[in-house]
Amino acid sequence: MVHTGKKRTVVNFGPGPAKIPEEVLQKAQTEFLEYEHTGISVLEMSHRSPEFDGIMKETEKLLRDEMSIPNEFEVLFLQGGGSGQFAAVPMNLKFKSSSGSADYAVTGSWSAKAADEAKRYLDVNKVFTPMKPYTKIPEKSQWKFNADAAYVYYCANETVDGVEFQQPPELKYHNVPLVADISSNILSRPFDVAKHGLVFAGTQKNLGAAGLTIVIVRKDLLGHAESYTPSVLNYHENHKMNSVYNTPPVYSIYLTKLVLEWIRDKGGVHALYERNKNKSALIYDVVDDSQGFYYCPVDLSCRSNMNIPFRVGGRDGNSDLEKKFIQGAEKLDMISLKGHRSVGGIRASLYNAVSEEETRKLSEYMKEFMVTFKTEE
Ligand SMILES: *Cc1c(COP(=O)(O)O)cnc(C)c1O
Repeated sequence: MVHTGKKRTVVNFGPGPAKIPEEVLQKAQTEFLEYEHTGISVLEMSHRSPEFDGIMKETEKLLRDEMSIPNEFEVLFLQGGGSGQFAAVPMNLKFKSSSGSADYAVTGSWSAKAADEAKRYLDVNKVFTPMKPYTKIPEKSQWKFNADAAYVYYCANETVDGVEFQQPPELKYHNVPLVADISSNILSRPFDVAKHGLVFAGTQKNLGAAGLTIVIVRKDLLGHAESYTPSVLNYHENHKMNSVYNTPPVYSIYLTKLVLEWIRDKGGVHALYERNKNKSALIYDVVDDSQGFYYCPVDLSCRSNMNIPFRVGGRDGNSDLEKKFIQGAEKLDMISLKGHRSVGGIRASLYNAVSEEETRKLSEYMKEFMVTFKTEE
C-alpha cells in the first residue's frame, strides 16, 4: 500500500503499544527501504556495522540530553520488557543487602507484579500494606524502610490504575539505591534521574515501538550480579559489550531515536509536561464536573497525567452505559478506551504522542454522552 499523504483519522488512546507521532512514522516510512546512503533498511543492518553504531550512539546522546542523565550513569539498550527488569533488578542488585532483601512500594498492578517476581530471588519487604483498590499513595510517615534493603523499588506511573508519583519518594536510608519503573511516563514530565540508582522503561508506551527496554544505571551498581543471572539480563555484561552482547532490537532502537528527535523538536520534556497537564485536565475536569456521572477513583494527590481510568454511570460503573460509551467513541474513530480487565470501566491513555486536539475530541464526546444518557443512570 502506498502512503497517500492523507492525515490519519483514528485517535488511539491505547495503553501500549501506543500511538507513535505521525511525524515519526512518516520519517520512518521515507527511510524504510534505504537508510541514509547505506542502500539498505535499518531492519537489514548489522548491529555491529558503523552505521548502526552511529544510530545507537545518537539515540543514547538524545536520551541523555532530554533526560539530563548525569555522567555517573550508564545507559543500556536491552530486551525482555519491563517484565524482564522485574527479574533483572533483584538479580543484579541483591549484593547490596547482607540479609538478601529489598523494599517494595506497591501502588498498583505493575509494582505488585514486580514484587511477586522479585520474591523468586530475594526477600521482599513491602514498605506499606498495599491499598486495594489502588487509588492512593500512603503518606510518607507510613512507609517502613529496611536499613539493609538492597534497594527501594517503586513504579512512577501505574499504567493500569492511573496512580502516578508527582515526585520520587523520599528515602530514610540514603545509602539504599532507589529503583523506578518509568515505562509509562518516561519523558512525559521532568524527572530527576540523579535521585535514583537505577531506572528502566520499555519503549512501547512513550518512546516508540515494543522490543526495546532502556536501563539507566549508576556505575557503582554494575558488576555484582548473582552468578545465576542470565547474561542477557546482566547489566555489566551488556555494558561491557556496549549493549550488543547479542543482537539488539535494531529497528526499535532506530524508532526510539526518531521519537527522541521529535521530543527535542517539540521543546523537550518541559514543553511536553505543560501539554500533558493541559491534556489530562481536559478529561479530569469533565469527570469532576459530572456530579458523579463519571467517576475516577484515584486520589487527587496522585492522579496520572498519562493513564486516566474512570467509570461511567456512577462509582461502580454501569456496564450497559460503559459499553455504549465505548461503541459511541469507536463510531467517532476513538479507539482502545476499554479499561484494564482488572479494573473495568474506561481508561484513556494520553501519552506524549496524543495531541491536545485529540484529547479535546474525547472530552467533548464525554460531555455530549453525559447529556444524552444522564437520566438512564
Ligand atoms: C507496560 C508496563 C510494564 C510491562 O512491560 P512489558 O514490556 O510488557 O514487560 C511494566 N511496567 C509498567 C509501568 C508498564 O506500563
